[in-house]
Amino acid sequence: MQSTPIANRKHIALIGNANSGKSTLFNRLLGQELAITSEKKGTTTDPITKAMELSPYGPVAIIDTAGLSDDTELGVKRMEKTNAIVSRADLLLYVADISDFDAHSYEVARLDSQKKKSAFLLLFNKCDLVDKETVLSFKEKYPDALFISKKDDKTIDSLKEAIIVELEKITDTNDSIIGNLLDENSTVLLVIPIDIAAPKGRLILPQVQLIRDCLDNNIKCTIVKENQIEDALKELPKVDLVVTDSQIFKSVDRLVPQQIPLTSFSMLLANKNGGIRTFINGARAIDNLPNGAKILMAEACTHNVTHEDIGREKIPHWLKSFTGKDFEYRYAVSHDFPENLSEYDLVIHCGGCMINQMAILTRLNICENAGIPITNYGVVIAYINGILDRCSTIFY
Ligand code: SF4
Repeated sequence: MQSTPIANRKHIALIGNANSGKSTLFNRLLGQELAITSEKKGTTTDPITKAMELSPYGPVAIIDTAGLSDDTELGVKRMEKTNAIVSRADLLLYVADISDFDAHSYEVARLDSQKKKSAFLLLFNKCDLVDKETVLSFKEKYPDALFISKKDDKTIDSLKEAIIVELEKITDTNDSIIGNLLDENSTVLLVIPIDIAAPKGRLILPQVQLIRDCLDNNIKCTIVKENQIEDALKELPKVDLVVTDSQIFKSVDRLVPQQIPLTSFSMLLANKNGGIRTFINGARAIDNLPNGAKILMAEACTHNVTHEDIGREKIPHWLKSFTGKDFEYRYAVSHDFPENLSEYDLVIHCGGCMINQMAILTRLNICENAGIPITNYGVVIAYINGILDRCSTIFY
């Protein structure tokens, strides 16, 4: 279970003012001492993310963050990191010290979570340090809150149960890449190029995820390299879908008869994460970009050695050939996705295989609120090859 990628885990972030006991709760939830705890304010500097099995729910990622109330110069930098975490959290646990409750900070965090559509729980911590009347008065005012004491195991168990209830509310009942697109016993042909860009001795995450998803959904999958497509199509009695790496879209499109739907790994992933239609519309905005338009290329992680040239060289080169225009490119790597996009005309996102669904949805929201079209690498490649309609049919 520990091998479930972080991107596939629901993200739970502990937030709240400094010294409210977030790190202690983080350690208690994990059942180990990972975060340093201290009575001194601001002990947690950088966010700490840890994968854990939350039984009986399943794999989650839990994140401890720096305090929200530190307004020193360093504190502001920590806050930026905390905000980046908050933007990709599925569930926010706002931890308040019951003897030092900052109602304003809580209200700001609660409203922010509503805006970002994250689930939210208020935890009053350190309840063992105040009298019963104080706890009762907070219970009356905040009936949905949880009341925690690190010394009382029952309160930690109740917290775990409450987390599971919240996660189950937001867990997609059909959290599948392909199971909601094809029937059981369908047949999929996966085209995986084994070229110099392929990592030695292994497949990349989206390929592994799709193979597993086919097995989970009783969908048969045959895996071939580009030069084996024609033979495979002759040998297989029927093929319901061909999925290819988008970098070889054009040649695969020529080899696969038009009546067989075709798409890419990254388009399937975008569909699972809820962004495919936005990405398809975003690609159509390319036609209206003026010469000199500014494009933000968003690479969601730094582990892109297998395709480092796609966003930096290939797509800029293909877009120039396709439009005949020169564009200006900026790059946002890892979690540094700008909140303010006003200077951009288009955002082109990578496949996003290493970030969770909430992080993708937050980015889509930022673009939508700013009125900036967003698309992704795979969709752009399909568009400039003139096959976007064909590669999108499976999603409509
Ligand atoms: S597609 Fe994006 S998230 Fe996935 S490995 Fe490449 S840069 Fe990282």
